[in-house]
Amino acid sequence: MSRSNSEKLVGLTLTTSIYDIPGVWEVHAQKLEILGVRNVGQLLAHLPHRHEWLRAQSGIADLQPGVISSAEGEITATKISGFGRKARFQAVLHDGDGRLDLVFFNQSFLQKKLHVGMRLRVQGKPTKFGPGLQMANPLFTILEDTGGDAGGIEDDAYRPVYPATEGLASERIWEIVKTVLEPAIEQLEDHLSDEFRAERALPSLSEAYRMMHAPQHEDEVKAARRRLAYDELLMLQLGVHMKRAHLRRTLTAPALERTPEIDERIRARMPFALTAAQQRVVDEISRDVALTMPTNRLVQGDVGSGKTAVALDAMLLAIAHGHQAALMAPTELLAEQHFLSITEMLSGSSVRVELLTGSMPSADRDTVLAKIHSGDVDLVIGTHALISDRVEFHSLALVVIDEQHRFGVEQRAKLRVKGGKDHEGETPHVIVMTATPIPRTIGLTIFGDLDISTIDELPPGRTPVITKRVTPDQRKTVYNWVNEKIKQGDQAFIVVPAIEPGSKGETRVTDLRTLQKELEGGELHDVKIAALHGRLKRDTREHIMHRFRAGKIDALIATTVIEVGVDVPNATMMIIEDADRFGLAQLHQLRGRVGRGQKPGVCVLIGNPKTEDGIARLNAMVETTSGFVLAERDLEIRGAGDVFGTRQSGTPPFRIADPMRDLELLQMARRDAAGWIALSPTLDRQEDAIARRRMLKAHGQWLGLGDVG
Ligand code: ADP
Ligand code: MG
Repeated sequence: MSRSNSEKLVGLTLTTSIYDIPGVWEVHAQKLEILGVRNVGQLLAHLPHRHEWLRAQSGIADLQPGVISSAEGEITATKISGFGRKARFQAVLHDGDGRLDLVFFNQSFLQKKLHVGMRLRVQGKPTKFGPGLQMANPLFTILEDTGGDAGGIEDDAYRPVYPATEGLASERIWEIVKTVLEPAIEQLEDHLSDEFRAERALPSLSEAYRMMHAPQHEDEVKAARRRLAYDELLMLQLGVHMKRAHLRRTLTAPALERTPEIDERIRARMPFALTAAQQRVVDEISRDVALTMPTNRLVQGDVGSGKTAVALDAMLLAIAHGHQAALMAPTELLAEQHFLSITEMLSGSSVRVELLTGSMPSADRDTVLAKIHSGDVDLVIGTHALISDRVEFHSLALVVIDEQHRFGVEQRAKLRVKGGKDHEGETPHVIVMTATPIPRTIGLTIFGDLDISTIDELPPGRTPVITKRVTPDQRKTVYNWVNEKIKQGDQAFIVVPAIEPGSKGETRVTDLRTLQKELEGGELHDVKIAALHGRLKRDTREHIMHRFRAGKIDALIATTVIEVGVDVPNATMMIIEDADRFGLAQLHQLRGRVGRGQKPGVCVLIGNPKTEDGIARLNAMVETTSGFVLAERDLEIRGAGDVFGTRQSGTPPFRIADPMRDLELLQMARRDAAGWIALSPTLDRQEDAIARRRMLKAHGQWLGLGDVG
């Protein structure tokens, strides 16, 4: 080496290429690139996923055979046996209470290095050896000796274990990190001030990275992790709050005041008295929409809690003020359902309601589009066709999105800009309804920009649905029982995972065609059965649903098109074939289709789950009917990122933070971000510069923050 290491390290920065780090071989640099590490900064960010304890954990007498551990003691004897390459060096280690034999194969040079009287720390796996224990080829550190260098482990308390790759072991990565750690962390700029950190007991960024890579104590790893997790959560919250502040600054929505007169008119339209929970949410919404600040509220309530009534209430409020309202559903079937029930509720009123879906004949669609544009319709119900560019509203004041988990953040953003043609800069109030309750943690993280209302009460007279789990060989019994109940006037849903039989070789699942034939020729031969699935034409679907609702069909064999929103109070049985094939949220939704009237509902899960997750899901369904409990359970089974499509919606997953475990940190980050943005809405003060840059890098794009500030 022509230049000394320290000389070359003088010019080291966070952007120095890993190829330029002194002592790093090109092959190793190439492997680091495979791990996504190209420069010193990225190397710092390549965090160990765990740490190995290196200090003596126990006295020699407490060592267990077969358990990797470390111990310390004094060398009391040494011996060399054999010759040349076969030579074996042995040493005896004592710590007052016990004796440990060390054996080093093919390392005869050690006789020059290890002497009687030296203190040694060793790490390895002890095995039984005569009456005592032996460690073969242990890693060791000389504790009291000058001149001798360590023969394997360093004098650290912990050794980091890095995500490694073939040809680049964790130990190599650690050696490389060690050469740059000190000079690199010195250059880290902290986006949090000393005072800010002191108030929250957070270490500096430099300290955090030092403690992550080279901790002296287990608590240091914890403190470092806490800081880095906080940073991740803070960055997301800053982004979300900045976006929200921007919207509030630049956009206004029509103020929809709820006068006593309007209130009375709306009440008169409702076929029932609202539950206390519904009333509370109606009040929360009314308070929001009375202001010109655009509402962005999430209403969550378990299946059957009566969200539609709350939505309708808000929409009627907008219409009472001479504006338009829109209700957006995730599927055509659900949009059709809403259309039918809402037109029924509003019959005899002057409210003009229209349906808009993607599969409408284009002539019909054009007519509806024209009415939306001219203001000749007050309430539009539809699918995401509602946010297509062709739809221009006359004066859209309020949008309700039903069953949020199907809609991503971007779609919501799109709605934001759809005001009305005569209302430049105006945006509608947005209310999002979800029947898949979002665990609080996820809600705060992903929907940090939403206020949340909860309908935590079911309408009176409901009894919880009874859930039974059976194996496929009990099918006959199940359908005989279904037959009996139908004879007594009940109706059933039968849900299958597929429409057509699968091709040969595929795992067999129950399909609609085969099952329908079987049941029509068997247990349900004198029962009126119809099939319902997404491939049918809209007219046909509507016709079938209409007949089912009217009691002219007894059993509906369907795919998950009926998953959300379908509301037929007389249906009391939900039979789900191959139930383990469905997700937990789906199963809960399906179960929510029964027990909606005065008669109690029963849900039968037929399945023979092969996977642990499948078993866990079915067990969870039998154990609880609470959507909230199930949502938390789902989070445990599937992991945070995957739940409710948040992954698809483009939210970057966290590397360090875990919204479930770090709830307190999350709440702190959320408060801090809110306070920070209140002081500095676009983060353009000089002291915000680093935070702003880091936040935009992490979240600017998906939040569409490019134009803010
Ligand atoms: P969700 O969309 O929350 O699953 P819905 O709005 O479809 O629930 O309501 C479920 C059923 O409860 C519907 O049949 C509805 O008419 C009825 N319902 C809603 N609110 C009330 C209430 N306050 N009193 C009685 N029935 C209600
Ligand atoms: Mg609903």
